[in-house]
Amino acid sequence: MTRRLWKLEQILVGLNEHQESEANEVTVEKDFFTDDYIRLIKNSHMIPHTDKSLQAQDWQKELSMLINDPEQLLSMLGLDRSLLDNALLANRDFQLRVTPSYASRIKKGDSNDPLLRQVLPIGAELNKVTGFTADPLAEKHASPRKGIIHKYRGRVLLVAATQCAINCRYCFRRHFPYTEHQVNRDQWDEALDYIRRDASIHEVILSGGDPLALADKQLSWLVEKVAAIAHVRRLRIHTRMPIVLPARVTPSLLQVLTDTRLKPVMVIHCNHAQEVDEQVEEAINRLRNANIATLNQSVLLKGVNDTSETLVQLSERLFEIGVIPYYLHLLDRVAGAAHFEVSENHAKNIYQQMMQSLSGYLVPKLVREKANALCKVPVFLYDEVRL
Ligand code: SF4
Repeated sequence: MTRRLWKLEQILVGLNEHQESEANEVTVEKDFFTDDYIRLIKNSHMIPHTDKSLQAQDWQKELSMLINDPEQLLSMLGLDRSLLDNALLANRDFQLRVTPSYASRIKKGDSNDPLLRQVLPIGAELNKVTGFTADPLAEKHASPRKGIIHKYRGRVLLVAATQCAINCRYCFRRHFPYTEHQVNRDQWDEALDYIRRDASIHEVILSGGDPLALADKQLSWLVEKVAAIAHVRRLRIHTRMPIVLPARVTPSLLQVLTDTRLKPVMVIHCNHAQEVDEQVEEAINRLRNANIATLNQSVLLKGVNDTSETLVQLSERLFEIGVIPYYLHLLDRVAGAAHFEVSENHAKNIYQQMMQSLSGYLVPKLVREKANALCKVPVFLYDEVRL
């Protein structure tokens, strides 16, 4: 087996160049995506949670082993090479990126696996479809300062990191100009000053990219700066990390999120019950033990979770591990993701069946985001419903 040493990918790019990465000296072996490797990833999560240094090394090592070569993914999953040509073409627009632990939950040999469909580039992404655009929510016009998106009253979003541990093919920010939002120390001061000057802002949302792609040192710096603004009360973290890289939920991360006067809320992003394995359950347990409220948002995706049975199972599984289903989003109409769209009528039918099968607190709100709207727009059933 060819063995090549990789330097850890410099994913921690959201803050400025003076802030040293905790992770940039870790080296690992590529060409390791065998069953033994998957076992190693799974076992690595069994490291006692008291050992902080091993924990940090653990998630950073896994980040350095991200799979970003379609050929490698197809081969490790025993999939037909006929998928490769289109995968390589679509990969040019938006690169494949998936963590080994997420890949280990994809069923081998199943090209329709709901997790695979979320990460594998396919030819349909190259189709130009009317109404699907690069910036479907017009975020360009909602950015008063570099690093800030301010759409709704009372809360503001910081683009804390410019990358994720996984590239979801349906992501509404798949064309987001992250390089324009890379913020240095002075620019962070300007962004924070914007929050300081608006006393109506009570909640700061860390988003991205995935804010938990930041090293704890960087995250801690940002959280302290936000906490120093008296009128901010809550800190919301929007992240897919507990699902795609559960080892990221380390004791030192929990310390960063709880050693602050801000009330932390974590919104994870899980679309299918198959995404929740033992390691995810343990990560959520750690969040619960730290008293961090954890909610989930999903996107309704054709070929992934577009049946009421799948979504009922998801809500029940989430609640079993201590996560409250929060939002079910209709797809944002981003270029490259049209093949994931579920029509609004079909969505309403699915939702009606969910309401009939689940207790109310297990039914997420069905919403759509609209450019320039002052909040997420609920998708009402009203007269269509025959309850
Ligand atoms: S983790 Fe979130 S921000 Fe990152 S690619 Fe997936 S949907 Fe987009």
